[in-house]
Amino acid sequence: MSFLKKFLSPKQKAITAEELSTALKNNEFTFYYQPEWDLKTNRVIGVEALMRWESPSRGFVPPMDFIPILEQSGVIHKFTKFLFNQTLSDLTKLLEIQPDLFVAVNLSICQLQENDLVDIIKKALEANHLDASRLECELTESQELTDELLSNGVLDEIAKMKIPVSMDDFGSGYSSYARLKRLNISKLKIDLEFTRTLFDDPKNQSVVASIIQLGHDLGSPVLAEGIETTEQQTWLKENGCDYGQGYWFSRALPMKQLIPFLTQKCQEMKQK
Ligand code: C2E
Ligand code: CA
Repeated sequence: MSFLKKFLSPKQKAITAEELSTALKNNEFTFYYQPEWDLKTNRVIGVEALMRWESPSRGFVPPMDFIPILEQSGVIHKFTKFLFNQTLSDLTKLLEIQPDLFVAVNLSICQLQENDLVDIIKKALEANHLDASRLECELTESQELTDELLSNGVLDEIAKMKIPVSMDDFGSGYSSYARLKRLNISKLKIDLEFTRTLFDDPKNQSVVASIIQLGHDLGSPVLAEGIETTEQQTWLKENGCDYGQGYWFSRALPMKQLIPFLTQKCQEMKQK
């Protein structure tokens, strides 16, 4: 652990596992939800759950400042239950507005190594009377997603339950064709850096076009993260990208803003 601590920033070092455990007990964590859109129909297809910590003493703390501490300290185990219970319970409220939505949750490698992960997911789905297809698990394409982890059975169990698994931040990491095929992923999410630099160099557009083609060749739809401009949205749509997410559509929203937002979008779709 001390070895890992070397890679934490000074801000992260100041956060302790005890502080995070207390914050969890005190309900200081919440989820914001960022909609994912169908680029062809301009309809919301699902929402991605993004964790937020509003600490009374520190103020708003971005996830990248506390998630590494959660992971390294083992406190993340307590969060896994909270993650599935809270996001699936929130989803039941959203389904009253749009019945075909799903919620996507980000899973880190250490969560995939938890023995009772599958049990936690099953119980949370049952408690909320939800079908497994309403949930999506996002795995970050990373070096740690080793063949050993791929064969530990958890991902097979998740696949058996028919929970869709998407590959997050695609293009920034280490996925090989073999690994992608082995994972049987249901969606490729192109890393937002590719969207941000789309028009910096024609080569970047070739790379994004190839990722879209790769996803389709593997039978998976492709989503572009981080769409901020009309030009990016138009290019991606014209080049066959299926789905999009980003500030151009909407930021991640707390439930009290997401509910009226979704209600309005559903009404607009009905009027079309
Ligand atoms: P991610 O999964 O790649 O999530 C996308 C990040 O990009 C989010 O940042 C989102 O707010 C941001 N984003 C979305 N659209 C745009 C855009 O158009 N432009 C720009 N510049 N950014 C955009 P956020 O919420 O700060 O989350 C950062 C990372 O923290 C996430 O990256 C994810 O890896 C991690 N994270 C968040 N919640 C959880 C969680 O519950 N569990 C785990 N394990 N990781 C989480
Ligand atoms: Ca994600």
